Amino acid sequence: MSRPESSFVTDRATLVRRLKMILPAHCLLVEDEDLRPYECDGLTAYRAMPLAVCLPESEGQVIDVLRTCHQLGVPVVARGAGTGLSGGAMPHAEGVVLSLARFNKILRVDRDSRTAAVQPGVRNLAVSEAAAPYGLYYAPDPSSQIACTIGGNVAENSGGVHCLKYGLTVHNVLRLRVVSIEGEIFEIGGGAPDAPGYDLLALLIGSEGLLGVVTEVTVKLVPKPELAQVVMASFHDVARAGDAVAAIIAAGIIPAGLEMMDKAAAAAVEPFVKAGYDLDAAAILLCESDGTPEEVAEEISRVMAVLTASGAHDLRVSQSEAERLRFWAGRKAAFPAVGRITPDYYCMDGTIPRKRLAEMLAAIAAMEQKYGLRCANVFHAGDGNLHPLIMYDASLPGEWERAEAFGADILELSVALGGSITGEHGVGIEKINQMCVQYATPELEAFHRVKAAFDEKRLLNPEKAVPSLHRCAEYGRMRVHRGELKFPELERF
Ligand SMILES: Cc1cc2nc3c(=O)[nH]c(=O)nc-3n(C[C@H](O)[C@H](O)[C@H](O)COP(=O)(O)OP(=O)(O)OC[C@H]3O[C@@H](n4cnc5c(N)ncnc54)[C@H](O)[C@@H]3O)c2cc1C
Repeated sequence: MSRPESSFVTDRATLVRRLKMILPAHCLLVEDEDLRPYECDGLTAYRAMPLAVCLPESEGQVIDVLRTCHQLGVPVVARGAGTGLSGGAMPHAEGVVLSLARFNKILRVDRDSRTAAVQPGVRNLAVSEAAAPYGLYYAPDPSSQIACTIGGNVAENSGGVHCLKYGLTVHNVLRLRVVSIEGEIFEIGGGAPDAPGYDLLALLIGSEGLLGVVTEVTVKLVPKPELAQVVMASFHDVARAGDAVAAIIAAGIIPAGLEMMDKAAAAAVEPFVKAGYDLDAAAILLCESDGTPEEVAEEISRVMAVLTASGAHDLRVSQSEAERLRFWAGRKAAFPAVGRITPDYYCMDGTIPRKRLAEMLAAIAAMEQKYGLRCANVFHAGDGNLHPLIMYDASLPGEWERAEAFGADILELSVALGGSITGEHGVGIEKINQMCVQYATPELEAFHRVKAAFDEKRLLNPEKAVPSLHRCAEYGRMRVHRGELKFPELERF
């Protein structure tokens, strides 16, 4: 993908001199070998070296860094753990990376209000660990939860296996403390169910570091269920497995998790985690119920009835907590497992209406032929959120370009099927062209006006997430769909 031409030119010497005036030496990295680890996030195909990395230890230092960059007109990219898969934390070559890694304190866990206040660099799993002694946990559980930070989760509106029942990050965050690019602090949200004024909390969650830098997050905690059990169902036919997902939801059941793996994904995972997956199955569904023992028993029997009627040929129910975790282990480790069988893989993240899963899977199989690349599929099936893992070898000429075109086709088909180009990984740099497919000029202009209201000079994570109209005109020129040229009113260059 062509990178947008940058309009920023930074005087590095002045920038470094000014940063040294506000940060102690151990909070500032400027040497090439120190900057290298920050050159990409989890989307390693895209890289850029920043001019400096700031590692502030206090909110005052965050304010000083942002004020300095604002005065000098220098781009700033906030960074959590760098596990993002859309290039959101990839540095700007003329800018500064602002790492929140040292903001790693759990400030409060309040059993009575079932909330926790944490700094943004706290790892997702660490919140649940801190809440565990009170019988509570933080529900959104990205598969990367052992490493990713709450700040990154807020910026990406991250999801996970349990979000089908318990909601995404946006449904589990009550309050944010944010520093603007001008260095002003603002707090949004609160304990009450509704707040007067515009819903800036929802606007900030999922804004990919474009509107402000989060310095504190108050999250909801939920009680740990008494019991959780998983049904593992095997299908000979992928289409039937896809239809079974729609049938479960249509039966009025909202499971705690509803995930799917195709044959290629199960084959990659089984030798890695030894979860006992049926390797002859074309698709495996994992469906979790949680609650009291009575609730779980009742829901599991309803789920089994729907799965049997939908054509599952084998059904197993976890009989212990250890077995439940083993069933999930494979799904949760699908990305690294695929990483073991291919030199490189490209993880896509589209969302489609559940009832169209089977259609999408057939189309992906055809794309494997078209591009000559293999693809393993894992899904947050209950949400219709696809994670096709396209396998390629970056050292072979042309393979990355084919993988990228394969991914673009999946995303654009997601839109055509009535879905979206992202379920939880964000747009970042990766899907910026597909934003031109998802939205028309009026919506993109509205996004640009929102950005300008928070960050007039466009310094926070510039050239990400929201494409310029000219970029869309260029992309429309390159990819004409069904004979329709996108943005015909714009001049072509
Ligand atoms: C193996 C693997 C599995 C994954 N599974 C899932 C999954 O199941 N569900 C899911 O949703 N995602 C998943 N992801 C993607 C990723 O882990 C999430 O997007 C996560 O929320 C990123 O957190 P991070 O701390 O690594 O953020 P980073 O990658 O460092 O940053 C992500 C974005 O957040 C911004 N940002 C970070 N901190 C702040 C802050 N304090 N203020 C403002 N902006 C900030 C950055 O600028 C960037 O745009 C997975 C990734 C991997 C590698």
